[in-house]
Amino acid sequence: MSYTLINPATEEAMETIEALDVEAVDAAVEKARGAQVAWAGLNPADRAMLLRRFADAVDGDREHLAELEVRNSGHPIGNARWEAEHVRNVLEYYAATPERLFGKQIPVAGGLDVTFQEPLGVVGVITPWNFPMTIASWGFAPALAAGNAVVLKPAEWTPLTSLRLAELGLEAGLPEGLFQVLTGKGSVVGNRFVTNPTVRKVVFTGSTEVGKQIMAGCADQVKRVTLELGGKSANIVFADADVAKAATTAPSSVFDNSGQDCCARSRILVQRSVFDEFMQHFETAVTSLNVGDPTQSTTDMGPLVSRAHHDAVSAYVDADTPVAFRGTAPEGPGFWFAPTVVTPESRTDRCMTEEIFGPVVAVVPFEDEADAVSLANATEFGLSGSIWTRDVARAIRVARGVESGNLSVNSHSSVRYNTPFGGFKQSGLGRELGPDAHLAFTETKNVFIPTTEQD
Ligand code: NAD
Repeated sequence: MSYTLINPATEEAMETIEALDVEAVDAAVEKARGAQVAWAGLNPADRAMLLRRFADAVDGDREHLAELEVRNSGHPIGNARWEAEHVRNVLEYYAATPERLFGKQIPVAGGLDVTFQEPLGVVGVITPWNFPMTIASWGFAPALAAGNAVVLKPAEWTPLTSLRLAELGLEAGLPEGLFQVLTGKGSVVGNRFVTNPTVRKVVFTGSTEVGKQIMAGCADQVKRVTLELGGKSANIVFADADVAKAATTAPSSVFDNSGQDCCARSRILVQRSVFDEFMQHFETAVTSLNVGDPTQSTTDMGPLVSRAHHDAVSAYVDADTPVAFRGTAPEGPGFWFAPTVVTPESRTDRCMTEEIFGPVVAVVPFEDEADAVSLANATEFGLSGSIWTRDVARAIRVARGVESGNLSVNSHSSVRYNTPFGGFKQSGLGRELGPDAHLAFTETKNVFIPTTEQD
């Protein structure tokens, strides 16, 4: 079985991709298991060197990877270049792990007690289509660094950069079978990662709905699982903030990657006394966004990823939707959707509660600090968010009060490879990136060696 990819900016047919079956997945997992045993047995310095070579190979291929992402996913070239560089950085960062995978020496009576961080074995990584190569690297880099093998299933629509990364790994000298990309359907390939007992952990990034199925499936084998799921994050603007700056930077915090971002600040909460001032600046910023050809470095926003996703996002904007203003979008072929700002009357409007995953943002007023925190937390999600205020104490109080894994003050910080990332509540389980991520791909083993006669 195979299927054809479509360029989201032109609707032209591109590469044909193989959809693997369960037998092919099982064969790949078996091969990965063999490679993992040899990999874990290598000298840590050699594993580190091979990961650094992998990072170098990605570095040398950055422009090519970026161009692949533009064609396959419609990302503006400037964004795609950042993504390719980020993958290089993630690999380089975790290349330090094999030689620093420390255990502990614990003081106990009658002997020496030490812990080891043992690899899990084969890890299955399942990725979504919105940031194909970066999210893949958050799984495979620390997993490989901790001594595991990885089978990676990219989203159906966007496998090209993942396939290229597997080639680069091989070119860099990674052992055959250690890092394999298996294309095909989630319900077949992804689901087999859940049911095949040789896969010891599943790292899933995607919708909360599928994440819950994966978690339930993994329970059957008490399989380890990390989940990075949906979001409905708040951008909170207090009256004492630099309101103009908050408004002019807000488009990037929600319309970046056409709003197809789990961290999109898709609810903007503005203190009532500065609501009109904020909206004036925001309208200027939204209408001047450059939406169009993703191959151009001047483009701010490209198309949505597919026709099906375009239909899903469009369903949120109909004749009854309280649209305040919209930006522009090209006519003609391509899955274009103009940036759209809505001002719902009700705080329970679906634009306030559901993850639209497109360039649609809801802006609502709030009264005071307590109201802002309570409104920010009025969601099942808790992934990201921003807080705009000149009052440092308030910034800290609100940051501590918002139930979310990643917050930034007077800024909209994006993901950094060296800081932890993940969600509260139904936005996920576990953390990726940062100094500890590799530990989530190990089991702690405790060993006691007596130095005195034991009873
Ligand atoms: P999705 O859940 O439809 O698919 C994600 C991946 O899971 C795909 O590779 C898909 O093929 C696979 N899959 C589907 N059904 C499966 C099954 N039954 N068993 C195993 N695998 C299966 O999500 P999507 O539409 O690709 O991505 C968008 C979602 O991802 C949004 O909700 C977004 O918020 C979320 N996301 C979260 C993060 C984060 O870090 N928290 C990052 C990016 C995207």
